[in-house]
Amino acid sequence: MTTPAPLGLLAELTHRCPQSCVYCSNPIDLTRKSSELSTEEWMGVFQQAVDLGVVHVHLSGGEPTVRNDLVQLVEAAREAGLYTNLITSGTLLSEEGVHTLSEVGLDHIQLSIEDSDPGLADHIGGLSGAHLRKLTAASWIRDTGLRLTVNAVVHRQNLHHLDDIIDLALSMGADRLEIAHAQYQGWALKNRDVLMPTRAQLDEATQRVETRREQLRGNLKIDYVVSDYHGIRPKACMGGWGRQFFVVAPDGRVLPCHGADSIPELCFDNVRDTALDEIWFHGQAFERFRGTDWMPEPCQSCPEKTKDWGGCRCQAFALTGNAENTDPVCDLSPNHHLVESAVERAVAEQGQSWEYRSFGGQSSSLHPTASQDIEE
Ligand code: SF4
Ligand code: SF4
Repeated sequence: MTTPAPLGLLAELTHRCPQSCVYCSNPIDLTRKSSELSTEEWMGVFQQAVDLGVVHVHLSGGEPTVRNDLVQLVEAAREAGLYTNLITSGTLLSEEGVHTLSEVGLDHIQLSIEDSDPGLADHIGGLSGAHLRKLTAASWIRDTGLRLTVNAVVHRQNLHHLDDIIDLALSMGADRLEIAHAQYQGWALKNRDVLMPTRAQLDEATQRVETRREQLRGNLKIDYVVSDYHGIRPKACMGGWGRQFFVVAPDGRVLPCHGADSIPELCFDNVRDTALDEIWFHGQAFERFRGTDWMPEPCQSCPEKTKDWGGCRCQAFALTGNAENTDPVCDLSPNHHLVESAVERAVAEQGQSWEYRSFGGQSSSLHPTASQDIEE
């Protein structure tokens, strides 16, 4: 099978972030500021990505606006010919900063919210006053005419506000609302038992989204992503391993997906010492699970294998200890009971004890101060 050229790059500019969301899918072992790629190194990545065939870049993190060179990076990405999408919590944006980003050609902003209620939103994100700052940032974004998507990660702690979250996105002037159930990777996996909704909550939410989507047709586009755990078939993670997208981590390692460094057997090449096209076509981490030859049964003889590509390798490793196994989300997997028991355990769990995302990965029920996490 011929390896296709990639379409998209997720550029994790930094892992620093003033928030410390309990649903964050960043790795437990966060990269520190001292290891981050320089401005020039990122510019080189963008040019190499375009040469490789990439057409859009998602500037993400962590919180990308922590980087003092963000305007330069957006400008460089645009000049290289990339469609640029900034994925931000919005808490550090200024009015002038939004206008400057628009002037240098930023195409689109995705702004995250944690809830409709300011108190609960700040509690989930671990930063006091954050919600209000996001609403203000949204008004600046609308003033520039930039296209705005509001991202809302939903879970058991905020699903009861689903209608209010939709109304809030409308009032923020969003063109699109992406409602995504928490995906249990990184910090979200640590907090899985307090985040996972019951099947009844999930079904009710799905029904509400359908109803509101119809009501708001023409005013607000709503995308809805359900948690893998409540399905019986996995999604084609990243459109298939090493098929459409790749991630450049803050320190320059190139990953097939943003959770891939949770799999110990993989070796990640770095843009600091290897060309991007060499990494994409021949890197060990990309070749390991590309295509279908690596698949065990039941995937190997399954007619779905070029549709979902066997599901998520990180999830297979996290739940079974072997990244080569069929994603346990699939009800054909001999390990599917692991997903079912996680859902059942979450139903029994009623507490609100969670761990906030933090540098160092230490267990803490107290979130770090914003200034600490920005300077790490
Ligand atoms: S802590 Fe929250 S805002 Fe920061 S990167 Fe994680 S999910 Fe995004
Ligand atoms: S057996 Fe494998 S290929 Fe078939 S549906 Fe399940 S995960 Fe997909």
